[in-house]
Order: sequence, then C-alpha cells, then structure tokens
Amino acid sequence: MRATFLYGANDVRVDQIEDAKILKPTDVVIRTVVACVCGSDLWDYYSKTPDTVGVAKGHEVIGTIETAGADVRNFKAGDLVVVPFVASCGYCDYCQANQQTSCRNIEYFGHGGGGACQAEMVRVPWADGTLVKLPVEIDSPLMPSLLTLSDVLCTGYHAAKSANVQAGDTVVVVGDGAVGLSAVIAAKKLKAERIILMSRHESRSNLGREFGATEIVADRDEAGIQVIRDLTNGDGATRVLECVGTQSAIDLSIAITRDYGVIGRVGAAQYESIPMNFGTVMRNIGIYGGVAPARAYIEELMPDILEGRINPGKVFDQTVQLDDIAEGYKAMTERTAIKTLIRF
Ligand SMILES: [Zn+2]
Ligand SMILES: [Zn+2]
Repeated sequence: MRATFLYGANDVRVDQIEDAKILKPTDVVIRTVVACVCGSDLWDYYSKTPDTVGVAKGHEVIGTIETAGADVRNFKAGDLVVVPFVASCGYCDYCQANQQTSCRNIEYFGHGGGGACQAEMVRVPWADGTLVKLPVEIDSPLMPSLLTLSDVLCTGYHAAKSANVQAGDTVVVVGDGAVGLSAVIAAKKLKAERIILMSRHESRSNLGREFGATEIVADRDEAGIQVIRDLTNGDGATRVLECVGTQSAIDLSIAITRDYGVIGRVGAAQYESIPMNFGTVMRNIGIYGGVAPARAYIEELMPDILEGRINPGKVFDQTVQLDDIAEGYKAMTERTAIKTLIRF
C-alpha cells in the first residue's frame, strides 16, 4: 500500500510499504476513502531534522472496514466508519466519562510502525471504542463534512463546550484556520447571539460569515483588543475561543475576556506559561480546554451534517490525490489552502 511519511523539513513522500494488518484481536484494518492534512501535521514539517526513516503522517480518515479482528463486536467488513484522531478503548473510566483523549489504553496512529492515516489502508486499534459507523454511501457528497468529525469540527466544538457557551452569549473566536472556523459553527449551534471572528484573510472571513460569524475583526494585538472592547461596551466578551495556540493568541484572549468570562482553549499550546498575574487572576476568568475528545462529540454533531444544518466540509478548499499530498502540505504551510482533502 502507499502511505505518507515525513523525512525532513519540507520533505513529505508517499512510499510503497507493506499493507496494514491486524496486530491485536481488537483491531480493524480499513481501506481509506478520504483523509486529510491537519494543521498539527505541519508542526514538524518546518523543522524536522532529515532522517533516513520517515515519520508516518495523518490521523483524520474515513474508510471501509477490510478486516475485523476476532474480538471486534460492533463492526464488520464493509462498514463505512469515521476514525477520531486517537484510538481509545471505550471501557476505562476516562472513556466511560467521554474523556477519551485520556484513555488509559490510548493508542496513536502510526506509532506502532507502518503507516498512519494518510495511507491507503489503516490499522485502527480498539475498533469498538474508537470508530463510529457512517449511515451513507462512500460516494456521498457529505463525505468532506463527515471527515471533519475526525478532528476539526469536534475540536472547534470542544472550544465552545470548554468555554461553556450559552444561548445569548457574545463569543469571540481567535483563529481563522479550520478549527477556528469550526468553532464558529459550534458557537452558532450553542445559540451564541454574537460571534465575532478575528480574521484578516478574506476567503476565511467569508467562510466564517457563512458558518455564522456576525462580525469580523481584522485587527490583531493591541489594535484588535481595542476593537473588541469597543464592540463590547469596553468589557470584552463573555466567551473567547482560542484556536491558535501561540503566546500572542492566549495573551489576546485574556485581554478580550470579560470579567467572569471563560476562555475555551484548544490551540495546540506553543506557549510555556499563561500569564496569571494579579490583573488576570483577580478578574474571575476561567481558562478551560485542551486536546478535544473527538470521539465524545461525533454522535452529537453527525445529525447536523446528515440533515444539512451545517456544512463544515467547506473548510477543505484544496483536494489532491494521495500521490500529490506534498502539494497539500506546501499549500497549507503557505496558507494558500485552509485544509487539504486527500482522495484515494
Ligand atoms: Zn488533526
Ligand atoms: Zn479508555
């Protein structure tokens, strides 16, 4: 099978490797229908030291089950499934509490050797705990939107749930990537009254409006803080969704959160610390969030896609075949694409 590996900075290749196979009786092997490139796939793309052994890439995928292990109860060959970005057992205390990213038996794609999810076939550990069946055909036009259930839509939703967005709230979304745009969808689903998206890219802000943003703020840093304060009676927003992960994004988020407000943060943190000085801590603001338990939200969000209320698949503004995946990495790095879909 063909699978994607990163060998060094800006060096993504598709290699021919041995087919994925069942290693444990709780595994399945799927044949990929669609996969995609994640912002987090780019973290080491800029900087990786060249190596003769590549790092297997990808963790967002939809496929049909090719083979099911002997202990898999809920799935059989031929089932079409969406795969959340980590594999979780389904029975430990964390899984039972819908906190699957802390599963005591968690497994990550590509860590056991072989390929990961940007590949023609994928081994999925803990199939019963991890997978969700899709009630559509493989040629469904909903496939791009359903693929966002593997990560970005659920991550955006986690930002909104972490910030405890309630009907009538004023929400600011920091970040206009696929997660930030998904957070706009999430805030709308939770009936926020005003959704202010911070974005300076026209195509992204247009999509943000289509997803439910009521206002767009193109300014950043001090100027951005001032604009948000002006829009909120000088107070800041009750809910701020931090979907970037940089120091400037968290500093901005704290500055634009109203007293007694909450920041939902899902941006992969590149900061070492969050400023918790007197002016921050004593304002009674909360900071919640982390890596999203995508598996916890899939059943809740899927009907919105199936019934046409949301169309998160619009974040995919580039589609490539697997052999051309390096073009997707390049376009996302250069920000000429929001998110790249991979067809097989
Ligand atoms: Zn991802
Ligand atoms: Zn578990």
